[in-house]
Amino acid sequence: MITFSKKFWGIILLCCTFLLAACNDKSATNNEQKNTGKDNNKKITVVTTIAQIGEPLSVIGGDRVEVKSLMGPSVDPHLYQATHGDIQTLENADVVFYNGLHLEANMVDIFEEIEKSKSVLAIGETIDKSKLLHDENNAVDPHIWFDIDLWQQALDAAVDQLKEYSPENASYFEENKVKYFEKLQQLKEDAKKLTEIPEEQRILVTAHDAFGYFGRMHHMKVVGLQGLSTDGEIGISDIQNTIDTIVKYKVPAVFVESSINESSIKAVIEGAKKQGVPIQLGGELFSDAMGKAGTEEGTYLGMYRHNIDTIYTALKGGSNTNE
Ligand code: ZN
Repeated sequence: MITFSKKFWGIILLCCTFLLAACNDKSATNNEQKNTGKDNNKKITVVTTIAQIGEPLSVIGGDRVEVKSLMGPSVDPHLYQATHGDIQTLENADVVFYNGLHLEANMVDIFEEIEKSKSVLAIGETIDKSKLLHDENNAVDPHIWFDIDLWQQALDAAVDQLKEYSPENASYFEENKVKYFEKLQQLKEDAKKLTEIPEEQRILVTAHDAFGYFGRMHHMKVVGLQGLSTDGEIGISDIQNTIDTIVKYKVPAVFVESSINESSIKAVIEGAKKQGVPIQLGGELFSDAMGKAGTEEGTYLGMYRHNIDTIYTALKGGSNTNE
């Protein structure tokens, strides 16, 4: 039997190490080429969970990015389970953004896995923790897109990530971002009309607690039939408590949410009527999902304006006579 000396194995090992280092060098160069976007014709593939992240980034990214949001209209992110197709889409992405703060509760493991190999950012987790709201059990409220300033900060972190991924597009992204953020600030100005609603009627009753940040920003009291997530049952006591609030404050209207079954809110309306409190359905609000892509409500600015106008019309008083 042929035996090799320690020296021989040592040389083999050394050769392997060099070979490996050379390979690494080559792949590093490839990555660098990809990261610096030397292939200028290739759009950056951005994948997001909710469209509240994806749509603004498609505006800011312009023709340099291809954005796909996994969760479309009417989809409830609290309960959403990723499909095989979604996992494929995430694997093919260059950059992935999600809200975090336990919004996409069933996708946490997937993000932990894919962030080992690509750029993944929970944009909601980049903002100052002191600005976050919590419920009575100290669970964090993930619906931060309803605070326009916080959402601007979260989107800013996403744009920073895009710039890092593609430095040669950084000034293009920055320019678009500045323009988009001006529109966000205009939206904030426009929302001030909500404070024209008499203070005692500035109460937002909805199916689940998605509007905490909205309420804080626009000085409205918020009552959700369900808590911060939609994963629990709605009990008769929840419905009764909500009716009690409506009776107490003489709330003129309640609202359904596009991503949540409207039966619970209808039960509140019926219950209040039985107690002699006339209450109407104020309309449909976009909470955790936006409208259809290609419509005004399919944009962040449009869905937010839709909510402002719907709430304003229903609660301002005097103008509603139906129901
Ligand atoms: Zn929600």
